[in-house]
Amino acid sequence: HTLPLPPLSLDPIFPQLFINNEWHISSKGRTFPTVNPATGVKICDIQEADKADVDKAVEAAKAAGERSAPWRKMDVSSRGRLLHKLADLIERDRVFLATLETMDTGKPFLQSFFIDLDGSIKTLRYYAGWTDKIHGKTMPVDDSFMSFTKHEPVGVCGAIIPWNFPLLMFMWKMAPALSCGNTVIIKPAEQTPLTALHVGALIKEAGFPPGVVNILPGFGPLAGAALASHMDVDKVAFTGSTAVGQLIKETAARSNLKRVTLELGGKNPCIVFADSDLRLAVEETQKGAFYNQGQCCTAASRVFVEESVYEEFVRLSVASAKSLVTGDPLDPRTSHGPQVMTSRLPSLDERTAEPLLLQIFGPVQCIFSFKCLPEVIDRANSTKYGLVAAVFTKDMDRALSVSSALEAGTVWVNCYNALHAQTPFGGYKMSGNGRELGEYALAEYTEVKAITIKLSNNL
Ligand code: NAD
Repeated sequence: HTLPLPPLSLDPIFPQLFINNEWHISSKGRTFPTVNPATGVKICDIQEADKADVDKAVEAAKAAGERSAPWRKMDVSSRGRLLHKLADLIERDRVFLATLETMDTGKPFLQSFFIDLDGSIKTLRYYAGWTDKIHGKTMPVDDSFMSFTKHEPVGVCGAIIPWNFPLLMFMWKMAPALSCGNTVIIKPAEQTPLTALHVGALIKEAGFPPGVVNILPGFGPLAGAALASHMDVDKVAFTGSTAVGQLIKETAARSNLKRVTLELGGKNPCIVFADSDLRLAVEETQKGAFYNQGQCCTAASRVFVEESVYEEFVRLSVASAKSLVTGDPLDPRTSHGPQVMTSRLPSLDERTAEPLLLQIFGPVQCIFSFKCLPEVIDRANSTKYGLVAAVFTKDMDRALSVSSALEAGTVWVNCYNALHAQTPFGGYKMSGNGRELGEYALAEYTEVKAITIKLSNNL
């Protein structure tokens, strides 16, 4: 295989707000720097959106979603063609976008190229295929009536994006929203706005009508909160911390009861049985713990290994961890880059004589041993989170019964981080509300209208 290489120059970079298919400076003229975490060097200054800019973007998105506007009058298969066209343009700029993502987040270039970009393109294409297949049902009511449902767009959808998968999380939210005919306002994380803004340029090039997609880089308590509290925003999709997720839900409830979907943290268990392929289990759980420098809501942070193979599992895990190559994330040999926010490092490294409670969002894997099935299920479920879990065993009966007993939105059997655009993703308990991806996500982006007709014929 010929591996892709990052380009020598990062030009053009788009540093402004994207509203109505045009670039704008912010209403207050304020900017903030975006920094390469591998070098600590500023990449560029970005325009910072605040409340007035959110108002402007919401007005644009609302107008673009009016019944008489081109976006709503457009034939649904043309909507699909636009999403495919955007996927084509992202494919065209794939090396450039992967480089931009690596510069902004520190994730290894080949991971940006093969995972983030691949997932983004596939998500767009998957939802491009749905635009002309979103339909209601006819209900069998009594003979003198006819009842049917129509699925209509929710309206203006806000998306608040984290810094761990900036482009991919943008696509997870934007693609189903557009597929269902909504308009969107994206607020990328303040640490990582560059790929989203590049997509702004591609949205315009693809030919989306103005106002259908708007991109507002800025900070959470200003731009993010303005979006969550706006009376003309009909839905907010958020990925990030549990604390901010709770705040967004409160804000939504106090403003206009807008719909909220939340994808929050996890404290994800992996259960490794003695009959499993141990090398595979080591490889997958370690990938789960260290992938993206451990900055994943799906991080495999608690690994429970059956007592009889525990020592062997730990030995293989240590050897495997030593083979990780840390270094310059643009170097294709690097498998482990810097944390996105180097300011968070002291909390991972701290030495203290006191008991210390850490919420870890970094490359730390805890390996425990277990004796029997009921015990390990109890321990696996004894958390307020329920995002993902994994089971490693060759016994499929056991795999299925353990999968049913685990309180998690996703259970992986003999694999980890196996995410697909077709398969729903979301959390039980405090890991979130609602589902992203797959057909399930469409329900989050449609209103159901029931129409009942009184029939006059007496046949
Ligand atoms: P965060 O929740 O503060 O930030 C995520 C997004 O929310 C960003 O776009 C941010 O600007 C925005 N935001 C922040 N405050 C807001 C507010 N009041 N109203 C609206 N939007 C707001 O996350 P963080 O501080 O960057 O990271 C803290 C922790 O969050 C991490 O250590 C990790 O545990 C968790 N996290 C989880 C994910 C995930 O994939 N589920 C992603 C990033 C962070």
